[in-house]
Amino acid sequence: MVISLIGGCIGCGTCVQTCPTDVIRMDSKTEKAVIQYPADCQICHLCRMYCPVDAITISPEKSIPVIVSWG
Ligand code: SF4
Ligand code: SF4
Repeated sequence: MVISLIGGCIGCGTCVQTCPTDVIRMDSKTEKAVIQYPADCQICHLCRMYCPVDAITISPEKSIPVIVSWG
């Protein structure tokens, strides 16, 4: 799996809101994030960048640089 949760999730829901392809969902029982649809991950890194506790990791060998527009 390219994206994974390494623990420490505080259930803030930020990753669920930031993911453009709805890969991540909140588990209603544990109230923590789960990688629900990993095949849809576009490796955009938004969830990892916005997670306040660095609970998300993305495999470096599959990662691509984030393309940032400028101007
Ligand atoms: S890397 Fe991007 S596409 Fe993949 S789960 Fe995170 S926010 Fe969603
Ligand atoms: S952004 Fe981080 S702490 Fe918040 S729900 Fe997602 S994995 Fe958990």
